[in-house]
Amino acid sequence: MLSYRHSYHAGNHADVLKHCVQSLILEALKGKDKAFVYHDTHSGAGRYDLKDDHAEKTGEYVDGIGRLWGEDCPQLLHPYLRAVKALNPNGNLRYYPGSPLLASALIRPQDRMMLTELHPSDYPRLAQEFEGDRQVRIAREDGYQCLKANLPPKERRGMVLIDPPYELKDEYRDLVAGVQEGAKRWATGTYALWYPVVFRQDIEFVERRLKASGIRKILKIELRVKQDNVERGMTGSGMIVINPPWKLEQQMAELLPYLTEKLGQSPQAGFTLEWLVGE
Ligand code: SAM
Repeated sequence: MLSYRHSYHAGNHADVLKHCVQSLILEALKGKDKAFVYHDTHSGAGRYDLKDDHAEKTGEYVDGIGRLWGEDCPQLLHPYLRAVKALNPNGNLRYYPGSPLLASALIRPQDRMMLTELHPSDYPRLAQEFEGDRQVRIAREDGYQCLKANLPPKERRGMVLIDPPYELKDEYRDLVAGVQEGAKRWATGTYALWYPVVFRQDIEFVERRLKASGIRKILKIELRVKQDNVERGMTGSGMIVINPPWKLEQQMAELLPYLTEKLGQSPQAGFTLEWLVGE
């Protein structure tokens, strides 16, 4: 089943959190000259038009990137926001970069990207976005299979973003299995896993499995824009980061209060920053 289209949700509060964390990990990798790989298992279309029918229908970006646009934001957000601004040079917010386009704005000539996407409409868009770009390889393959086949990367440095649509319950199980397979092949890579806050039990399941997996250094970053409430749909989102860059915890400690204030939709908005597993 491939009914999920990210175009309905691009630029919402969950994208802001995910892309902010992604940009901080990529910036940290740039601390050394040595090349790295950015591997995106669930890439989406790459670029989103916030004025198209899908985005207009939900208007989700208004309470996401819309709330940061034109604001004097903390410096830690600048790499992310520069990439959004680069798509909107006239200053009007219209286009939003998905995770692959954000990565391509931040990587250097020596780095490379590996992208997978399965959707029959989004795959061609992604392929067109990066046509002729020799730093990028795109496959219309299952994200987890491709990850398994490509680890460890030859550079032995980099990050993996795993951002599934969670249309099916099994996807939480697949996520844990995919990460465990990855860590077996490449234990030192940075893995960033996105999750929605809808059913708290699904998140607890992932946390329990990861804690029992033997994988070390697992940081949980969560931003809730409202109180948990399954009837209201997604009330927040989180990133679970394995082997985070050493500054990420401190950076998120600085950013999460700001993001909560900016993106919160109720007095119960809040955040969590904690180690699920330490060193
Ligand atoms: N990472 C993107 C971003 O931040 O801009 C958004 C990705 S979206 C949440 C999830 C994407 O995964 C959808 O475009 C969907 O078509 C794709 N997808 C679903 N199952 C997949 C699979 N098994 N392998 C690769 N892509 C898949």
